[in-house]
Amino acid sequence: MILPGATLGILGGGQLGQMFALAARRMGYAVWVLDPDQECPAAAVADRHLCAAYDDQEALAALTNHCAAVTTEFENVPAAAMVYVEAKRPMRPSPHAVAIAQDRAQEKAFLQDIGLNVVPFASIKQAQDVVSAQFSMCFPAILKTTRFGYDGKGQVAVENAEGLEAAWSALQEAEAVLEARIDLQQELSIVIARAADGMMVFYPVAENIHHQGVLDLSIAPAQITEHLQNAVRSSAARIAEALDYVGVLAVEFFLAQDGTLFVNEIAPRPHNSGHYTIDACVHSQFDQQVRTLCGLPLGDTRLISPVVMMNLLGDLWEKEAPHWQQLFQHPQLKLHLYGKKAARAGRKMGHINALGIDTQRALAVLQALRQDWQWPQR
Ligand code: ADP
Ligand code: MG
Repeated sequence: MILPGATLGILGGGQLGQMFALAARRMGYAVWVLDPDQECPAAAVADRHLCAAYDDQEALAALTNHCAAVTTEFENVPAAAMVYVEAKRPMRPSPHAVAIAQDRAQEKAFLQDIGLNVVPFASIKQAQDVVSAQFSMCFPAILKTTRFGYDGKGQVAVENAEGLEAAWSALQEAEAVLEARIDLQQELSIVIARAADGMMVFYPVAENIHHQGVLDLSIAPAQITEHLQNAVRSSAARIAEALDYVGVLAVEFFLAQDGTLFVNEIAPRPHNSGHYTIDACVHSQFDQQVRTLCGLPLGDTRLISPVVMMNLLGDLWEKEAPHWQQLFQHPQLKLHLYGKKAARAGRKMGHINALGIDTQRALAVLQALRQDWQWPQR
């Protein structure tokens, strides 16, 4: 076990890295972060910020020499960097698990191999694949780059077969997957943690509302049948076991109108839809990331209060900063701001957790705040 007083490293210094660092420091660990952005959110709370590219040999050497173990908050860290760290220190999750999650085509092949449902798709690597997909796929569909996509970026809607060529050009003919567009009943996600000895704990399933490809609200617990809950949990467990995963893992699901459950994607790290755990669970997903990294026993995931998480996107800053006084009028709301200076449309600036007697009431408080802020309801 790596105990308080030790130094932990993290590859990536975004808001997930910041929240990891806060959890680790609260537990008495020091934190070093490697991120090329001078102003990355984690830098403000880390003991040391190595401001360098992820494949910078000197920075990687410093990180591995000083840290007892290293984790990541970001699936696009180059594989070579993670392999370098892994040779010297516990690196959790493993480079192998991250490599699968960073490529949509590999991820889907892996999920199919272990017997899980994925949305019907075709791989697009070359012009010939475009022609075959025009015949083999059903439209409307969505073309997604296999790598570097997030918050709906790197995705283009394709209404019919004729539109596929233009869509692929719009993505600079990058490797992509063409996915059937599902008529969604619900979007669900689960965060789980798995220890090196194979023990697993599960957070309650969240229902997620997205707007234009970006998460808007997460509602926990999701109002779903026990049968569906079990299906979500057992799918996530199967994924973690097949990857021999150690760390925090999130799995996103689509529930189609006809009741079919599809795995949408996996994230080898804490997840935006798990931010509710910070205020509403015994241990947050970030506490759990510290525990799995350090080989501590897993923490209790119990939900203490129904909760709704609302993302604060840069759009809200369009004219001026939101009126925080209005937020503070509601005693059930807990504000988390990541300290990002530039507010761009769609950029995740922070989030609010609304705790309530039930999720309807928690949601109603957020809707009231949105009204005050003249931010459209969804
Ligand atoms: P990202 O990596 O950007 O989160 P996702 O594949 O999860 O990419 O897509 C973002 C959102 O776009 C999803 O949560 C969902 O709301 C919508 N979406 C993506 N793919 C589909 C699909 N095949 N059918 C219907 N909606 C989809
Ligand atoms: Mg997603």
